[in-house]
Amino acid sequence: MSGWTATAERIEALEGVGLDDALVGALERRHAALAGAHAGRVNFYTPTFKVYATSEIKGCGKSAWPAVSITGGECKLACDHCKAKILEPMIPARTPEDLWRVVNEQIAAGAQGMLLTGGSNHRNEVEYDPYYPVVRRIKDAFPDFRIAVHTALVTRDIARRMEDSGLDVAMMDVIGAQDTITQVYHLRRTVADFEETLEHLTATSLKVVPHIVIGLHYGRLLGEWQALEMVQRHRPAALVLVVVMPFYAPEHRPFAVPDARKVGEFFMDAREALPDIPLLLGCARPAGRVKSRIDAYAVMAGLNGIAHPADGMVELAARLGREVRVTPACCSIAVGDEVLAAASGRDEGIAIDLDRIMADERARARPAGRLGAIPVVAQTAA
Ligand code: SF4
Repeated sequence: MSGWTATAERIEALEGVGLDDALVGALERRHAALAGAHAGRVNFYTPTFKVYATSEIKGCGKSAWPAVSITGGECKLACDHCKAKILEPMIPARTPEDLWRVVNEQIAAGAQGMLLTGGSNHRNEVEYDPYYPVVRRIKDAFPDFRIAVHTALVTRDIARRMEDSGLDVAMMDVIGAQDTITQVYHLRRTVADFEETLEHLTATSLKVVPHIVIGLHYGRLLGEWQALEMVQRHRPAALVLVVVMPFYAPEHRPFAVPDARKVGEFFMDAREALPDIPLLLGCARPAGRVKSRIDAYAVMAGLNGIAHPADGMVELAARLGREVRVTPACCSIAVGDEVLAAASGRDEGIAIDLDRIMADERARARPAGRLGAIPVVAQTAA
C-alpha cells in the first residue's frame, strides 16, 4: 500500500471510497518530482463549510455571479451532452437593452460580476456582435463588475472586439478529437478551428481560461491529451478541468460515467504539462463515490482550485502538506475569479489552522484515530 493510500485511509470521510492504490502511488511519486509556481497550493471553493464555532457561511448566492444568456434557452447546436439545458436556468438578455437592464438589476442585488454566454449558431459561434457596445458601457459605468464571456469559436477580428469591449475573462471549451466535434457537437468544424480560437484569444489582453471537458466523448477520454497539448502551446491564464455530466444525453447515445482512474491520470498529466499556470477543477462532475475518488485524485495531482469539494478533501490536502485555503463562496472558478485573483496577487481564501482543528476534534472525544469532517477555522484572511 502506498504512503498516500494509508494517509487517505485515516480520513473518515474517505472510508470505502475505493481509491486505486497503484494510481495513488504513481501520483505520490510524480507529485514529488514536480517543480513549478503552482505545485503546492490548493484553494477550495465551497458554500457548505461551517465557520468554526459560529454560524454557517452563506450558501450559494445566485446573485453574486449570475449567468446571463443572450439567446435565453435557445441553442442551434444541441450537443449530445447538453441539448441546451445548461442555458435554461440562466437569466435571459435577448437584446442589448435587456442586457443593460439585467446588469443594473443584478448589481443592485449585489452581483460582483457575471458569466455572459448564449447558445451557439450552427458554426459554434455565439453571436455577440450587437452586444459589444453595451458591454463597453457596462464596464465604463461599473469598472469593478467583472465579466467572463463564454466565447465559443472566434476569428481574430472577434477576439479583438471582445478585448476592445472591456470583457475581463474569455472562456472556451478546447476539444482535441475530431470525432467528438463531429459526433457530440454535430459540428462541421475542425480541431484546428479550436486551436486557432485559443491562439486569437491569447493574442489579446483578455485573461483566457480554456476548459477541457473530461469524458466529453460519451464518457470516454478521447481528445483530452490533444486538447492539453493545444493549451500548452498557447499559455493561457489558467486551465479549468470539468468532468462531463451528461444529464441530457439522448437515450440512443448514452454517456458512461468517466473512469475516475483515467480522470486522475489526466489530472497528473495536466499538472506536469502546466506546472506554471493555475489548474482548477470546476464544479461540474458526477456525484457520489466517484466524485470522492475524482476529488481525491485532484488533490493528489496538485490542482490549485477545487469547486465544491467532496467531504474529506480539506483534511486530505492538509495531511499531504498542501497550503490549504478555503473560499467560502460559490464556484467563482466559473467566472474566472480565481484567475483574476491569481493574476493580481490577491489571496482570496481563508487560511485554515489544521493544528487547532485537530486539537478541537480530539477534545470532542471522537473515537480514537478518527478526526471526522474538519470544520474551517475562519482565521484572518492572509
Ligand atoms: S453549444 Fe453549448 S449550450 Fe449549446 S448544446 Fe452545446 S454545450 Fe449546450
